[in-house]
Amino acid sequence: MTKEIEKVAQWIVNAKRVVVFAGAGLSTESGIPDFRSPGGVWDRYNPEDFYFQNFISNETSREKYWQMATEMYEPMKKAQPNLAHLAIAELERVGKLDCIITQNVDGLHHKAGNSEKKILELHGTAMHVTCLSCHKRYDRENIQERWRKGEKAPRCNDCGGLLKPATISFGQSMPETETEEAYERSSRCDLFIVIGSSLVVQPAASMPAVAKRHGAKLVIINRDPTACDEMADLVIHGQAGSVMANVLESVKAVLADRS
Ligand SMILES: [Zn+2]
Repeated sequence: MTKEIEKVAQWIVNAKRVVVFAGAGLSTESGIPDFRSPGGVWDRYNPEDFYFQNFISNETSREKYWQMATEMYEPMKKAQPNLAHLAIAELERVGKLDCIITQNVDGLHHKAGNSEKKILELHGTAMHVTCLSCHKRYDRENIQERWRKGEKAPRCNDCGGLLKPATISFGQSMPETETEEAYERSSRCDLFIVIGSSLVVQPAASMPAVAKRHGAKLVIINRDPTACDEMADLVIHGQAGSVMANVLESVKAVLADRS
C-alpha cells in the first residue's frame, strides 16, 4: 500500500484545489454507529415516524423524533475526532485543503480543528437546533437539557415555533447554499478525495463524477468497494484513520523535500 499512499501524497502536494468528501465510514472509527447497520436505531424505530411532514403535522411524531434524535446525539456528543479527521485538519493547516464536503452531522471536523468556512455539511448538523419558523439557532446541548427536564418536543423561546435538530430529515430539502457550493467546488477542484463513503446517497454520490468530468483526479479511500471505484484514478480499501495518517505523513515528507 505504500506506493498508493505516496502517489496520493504527491497528488495532494501538486494539486491547486483539494476537495475531501467525507462519509459515515470516517466517523465509525470515532465510535459513532452507522445508523443504517443492523441493530442501529432504524431497526428499533419506524422511519416513517421521522418524515419531515409528520414532524410538522403532529405532536406524537415530534416526541418520537426527539426521543430517537436524543439516542443518536448522545454518542456524538462524547465522540472525539480520529486520525482521519485530524489528518484532514492538518491538510488545512499546511494549505492543502479547498474544503470538506461532509455527509456527517456529528461536528467532528469542527472538533478536529478545521475552520467553519472550510466545512460544507450536506446533511446539516446535530450540534445545533433550529426553529422551523424564525430560524433562530440554538446550541444543541441547551435544548437537550430542556428535553431532559421534560420538554418532549421543545419550542422556540422567541416565537413558539417548532424546534428541530439542524439535520436534514427524510422529506426535507437539502440545504441549498451548501449543496450548490459543494457542486461548484467539486467542479473546480483538481483532486477529489472520497473518505469513508460508499457513494450511494444522492445527490452527494454524483459529486465525484462532477469532479471527474471537469478534469480532477479521483481518489477513493473506503473499507469496501463503492459505486464509483471504476471511474477512480486510485482506490485504497482500508481504514480511513490509518490510511489518512500515512498519507499526511507522506505529504509532510514531500513538502519538506521541496522546501
Ligand atoms: Zn422561532
